[in-house]
Amino acid sequence: MDQDQSAQLYEEAKLLFPGGVSSPVRAIRPFPFYTKTASGSHITDVDGNEFVDCCMAYGPLILGHAHPVVREAIAKQLEHGWIYGTPAEQEIMYARKIQAHYPGMKMLRFVNTGTEATMGAIRAARGFTGRDKIVKIEGGFHGAHDAVLVRAGSGAATMGTPDSLGVPVDFVKNTLQVPFNDVGALEETLSSHKDEVACLIMEPVMGNMGPILPKDMYLRAVRNITRDHDVLLILDEIITGFRVNMFGAQGYYGVEPDLTTLGKIAGGGLPIGVFGGRRDIMETVAPQGGVYQAGTYSGNPLSLIAGMTTVEVMETGEVHRKLNAMGKALYQSLVDTVRSLNMQDLVTPTGISSMFQLFFGPQPSNYDEALKADRAKFEGFWRHMLQNGVFFPPSQFETNFLSAAHTQSDLDRIVAACRKSLVAIK
Ligand SMILES: *Cc1c(COP(=O)(O)O)cnc(C)c1O
Repeated sequence: MDQDQSAQLYEEAKLLFPGGVSSPVRAIRPFPFYTKTASGSHITDVDGNEFVDCCMAYGPLILGHAHPVVREAIAKQLEHGWIYGTPAEQEIMYARKIQAHYPGMKMLRFVNTGTEATMGAIRAARGFTGRDKIVKIEGGFHGAHDAVLVRAGSGAATMGTPDSLGVPVDFVKNTLQVPFNDVGALEETLSSHKDEVACLIMEPVMGNMGPILPKDMYLRAVRNITRDHDVLLILDEIITGFRVNMFGAQGYYGVEPDLTTLGKIAGGGLPIGVFGGRRDIMETVAPQGGVYQAGTYSGNPLSLIAGMTTVEVMETGEVHRKLNAMGKALYQSLVDTVRSLNMQDLVTPTGISSMFQLFFGPQPSNYDEALKADRAKFEGFWRHMLQNGVFFPPSQFETNFLSAAHTQSDLDRIVAACRKSLVAIK
């Protein structure tokens, strides 16, 4: 595979950007490929190599790259301008649409990124309860802001720096951690910090240490425990929202949080974040209440239109029926492939709906178990996958995504590439 142009561009980029990139997960060793164009399920680099994309921009592109209906909606909006600095009707239209699927979001705020959404939700929870402490799940990622940059999954774990320099210890002393799938640890933490904890923030399906599913009844137990302790539950559905189904993991598992954060798919590929939930909590957000939150680009019509159109395309249910069927078939093929190579002690396919990953170790149920995965093996595997024409996100702790644009022939290519790559590293 010829990658000369990407290699050259990266040489220049390394002088311009820290690590040569605009976000750490993109810094593939020895160099990342530079994308020239992308369409549907395929992504093409500047050297002309075409890959089946299973990264899909880390989640937003559930309909695939450059979906024609979304593109047309964006183009139409462009004629009317792309930022106003005033309210616009699109906010109301899209908010209603989100509420139809996330009925717990009685009031909401549009922001620009998932990071901002979780920052706003946590601040609202602290403002509403008047408490400082928060609990997060080890390995949970909620964006790159101070309070949640503790044992924060994929990017940090892969780079070997689980915490960030520049975050004063004082800023995270109020951030408590519990392992995923551990009801006892949560109960104990909340009991020993009685009346001190504002909220628990968590991904209902862990997506930033590979997909890790909640055990049976875990999320319901979490809901009961948080309610019993008068602690707000924030479900960070920035990956799972509109992904596992239209109603997110909260609909799938039947758990209603106090606050929800959305992003990624909710912006249809343009930058967005959303946080919202109980009216009494959201009424504390400025200008109605004293919890300050603001943004020049918040609720910009382009992101709203891209997100709303994406949601509309999915409303018939056809997209999720297809995605979930494909996800199931792919998962089964991966299990069969691993078994036929007699590598089941080395590799565990895992996933839910259109999220999947191959774990180089036993099926993890929390962060500490996930960290035991053989990252060197994964890296070798990943490289062979790329050589074989399939682009996975370059970390053991990321999630692979299928989109509605993936076809049976893409799935066949993924499975064939997996077989070859597993044999190569055996
Ligand atoms: C991606 C992600 C975020 C951060 O969203 P950005 O738009 O990258 O700021 C927050 N939470 C979860 C669960 C995510 O996957």
